[in-house]
Amino acid sequence: MKLEPVRNKRSIRLADKDARVHGSLKSGDALEKATEKQVERISDLQRVFYADARHALLIVLQGRDASGKDGTIRKVFSAVNPQGCAVSSFGVPSDLEQRHDYLWRVHQQIPARRMIGIFNRSHYEDILVPRVHDLLPKKVWTRRYDEINEFERMLTNNGVTIVKFMLHISRDEQRERLTERLTDSEKNWKFRKGDLDDRERWEDFTKAYRDILKQTSTDHAPWYIVPADDKDARNYLIARTIADTMAGLHLRYPKADPSIVGVEVK
Ligand code: ATP
Repeated sequence: MKLEPVRNKRSIRLADKDARVHGSLKSGDALEKATEKQVERISDLQRVFYADARHALLIVLQGRDASGKDGTIRKVFSAVNPQGCAVSSFGVPSDLEQRHDYLWRVHQQIPARRMIGIFNRSHYEDILVPRVHDLLPKKVWTRRYDEINEFERMLTNNGVTIVKFMLHISRDEQRERLTERLTDSEKNWKFRKGDLDDRERWEDFTKAYRDILKQTSTDHAPWYIVPADDKDARNYLIARTIADTMAGLHLRYPKADPSIVGVEVK
């Protein structure tokens, strides 16, 4: 099984049952092995990606609290060379960030050619949060769909390949994970009271995500909805999509400089 990009805008499925994988991806040794294989593929492809130097890769991870963004980063990129990779996390904008346009802080974190940039949350928070918490007039956050599509178009025209994942968990699964954060002393630090606020607005977030997926899944910067209740399946599906995307770039090692042909190391 593999993920398909969001294309048919009518059938965006974000019900609780869609957070589980139906079919062949059962947790167990076979799935773990399959994931390892994809993780190794990413590692191998990263070498040639870096040497090739024609592309940058931007991976956007969005999802509700406890949807597994951190866990995904830990597993899927466990074999990449840290020199070629940077993670950027986007929290509530600082005073300085708020005095700029909303894409200012984002643009600064766009990976350079050769680099893989991983966004833990992203510019999509600038539609979600103002909409759900009613912080900006509707006309301001609605025009951001077009602004973001154009921004991403500009990036892809300039060598950045963009892949966006929405980690979709069910209400029950989120309850379990947030409860664990409250009860497990090693996870307490991750708990924020605001997470419960957002949980109460579950349906509003679902609507906001649905519109984002509808309006901003483009050929140049596609969204993938990841059934994320099962962590092993989630990791496999994301790793495979990233590996396939990198393979699709037809990467190659640069030709040797003719001046080194025949040179001997003494
Ligand atoms: P996470 O919940 O992502 O694991 P965290 O709990 O450690 O992370 P931070 O990374 O400090 O928290 O911040 C995440 C919070 O910041 C989320 O509630 C998110 O909605 C909010 N946030 C991110 N970007 C924006 C934005 N542009 N405007 C308003 N709030 C934002």
